[in-house]
Amino acid sequence: MRRISILGATGSIGQSTIDLIARDPGAYAVVALTGGANITQLAADARRLGAQVAVTARDDLLEDLRAALAGSGVAVAAGRAALLEAAARPADWVMSCIVGAAGLEPGLAALQQGNVLALANKETLVCAGPLIMAEARARGATILPVDSEHSAIFQALLGEDISSVESVTLTASGGAFRDWPLADLARATPEQAATHPNWDMGQRITIDSASMFNKALEMIEARELFGLPPDRIDAVIHPESLVHALVTHVDGGTIAHLGAPDMRHAIGYALNWPDRAPLPVPRLDLAAAGALTFRAPDLARFPALRIARAVMARGGLAGAVMNAAKETALDAFLARRIGFTAMADTVSRVLDVAEAESGLIDAPFSLDNVLRADRFARKTARDDVASASRDNTGR
Ligand code: NAD
Ligand code: MG
Repeated sequence: MRRISILGATGSIGQSTIDLIARDPGAYAVVALTGGANITQLAADARRLGAQVAVTARDDLLEDLRAALAGSGVAVAAGRAALLEAAARPADWVMSCIVGAAGLEPGLAALQQGNVLALANKETLVCAGPLIMAEARARGATILPVDSEHSAIFQALLGEDISSVESVTLTASGGAFRDWPLADLARATPEQAATHPNWDMGQRITIDSASMFNKALEMIEARELFGLPPDRIDAVIHPESLVHALVTHVDGGTIAHLGAPDMRHAIGYALNWPDRAPLPVPRLDLAAAGALTFRAPDLARFPALRIARAVMARGGLAGAVMNAAKETALDAFLARRIGFTAMADTVSRVLDVAEAESGLIDAPFSLDNVLRADRFARKTARDDVASASRDNTGR
C-alpha cells in the first residue's frame, strides 16, 4: 500500500485528489490529511479514508476536530507546528495543495523525506524555486507538477532533452474578465472576479485567473521547474482551455497537450506516475469543440504578465516579494478596500520598495530569507493599501 498525505485536503485540489484515491481505497494508506476551517469535511474524509492523523491549521478548532473524530481512531492536532509535523511524517506520495505561501514550509517538510511531492502549490516555486529544486536534488526527491499547464509541459517533455526546447507556451483561459474593456476593470467586484469560465477552483486562484496573476505565477513556476530562461517562456490566451501547454523544439516541431479542463487528469497523472492508469475525466471531443482559438494577452489590461517578466529578469527573492504583495492585495480586494486594477499597482510599488531595501532581494536563497522577504512585502503591501484606501475616501 502506498502511504499518502494531502496537505490542503479540504480545498478544491484536495477534494479532487480524495475523489481519485477513494475510488481505490485498498491501494492507499492515508497518513495525514490537513485542512483549515472546514472541520466537517476534514473529519468526514479522515474517517472515511482511515487517516493516521487529521490536522487543522486553526488552533482554535482543535476541540471541534476532536469531537468530530471521537471514536474514529484518527489522531487529531491543530496549529502550524502540528501541520509541519504531519507534513514531515514518512509517506510515499504527498500532495501539496494548500493555497498561498502558507504551503511553502509544509511542502518543504514533505520534500525533506525524499519521496514524491505532487506540487499543486505553485507559490512554493515562485517564492523559493532554487531552494526547493536544490533540496529535491539533495534528498533524491521527485517533484511532480500538478498545475495543469506544468503537468502538460512535463508530459510533452517525456523522452525529450530539455536542451532541445526552444520555448514553452502556457495557455490561459483569460479568466472572468477576458473580454472586459480596461475602463470597466477598475469597478469589477470580488463576486464578478470569482467566477471562472472553464475551471472549477478555489476562490483565490479564480480571482488570480481574472487578474492573470495566476498566469504570472505560472510563468515563474515554469522557469523554476524546468530551468528555462525567461525569454523561452510565453503565455497565450486560449478561451476554450482544451490545450494546456505547448513545447516548441529547436527543429520547429511543437508538441501540445490537450484534454478537458478537469484537474483530476493532472492529479491522477502525478498519482500514477511513472505509469498511466485510467482516470474518470471527460474525454476530449474536438468535433464538439469545433474550434480552438488563440490570441496574444493584452498587457495593458493585464499588467501581471509584465510584472512576471520583470520578476524573472530580476531573479533573487523578487518572486517571494511579488507573491506576498499579491496575496495581501488580494485580501484587500476581497475586503473591498481596493479595486481590482489596484492589486497590480500595489504589487508594482511593493517590488520597488523591496528593491530599495538593501540586501532583501539579493539575500541568499535560505528559508529564513524567503520568509523575511515575504514578511517585508506583506507589511509594505498593507501600508500601501492603507494609503491607497485613504486616498480613495478623500481623507
Ligand atoms: P482552496 O482554497 O480550494 O483550498 C486551499 C486549502 O488550503 C484548503 O484545504 C485550506 O484549508 C488550506 N489552507 C488555506 N490556508 C491555509 C493556511 N494558512 N494554513 C494551512 N492550510 C491552509 O485552493 P485550491 O484551489 O485547491 O488551490 C490550492 C493550490 O493549488 C493553490 O496553490 C493553487 O494555486 C493551486 N492550483 C489549484 C488549481 C485548481 O484547480 N484549484 C489548479 C492549479 C493549481
Ligand atoms: Mg494552472
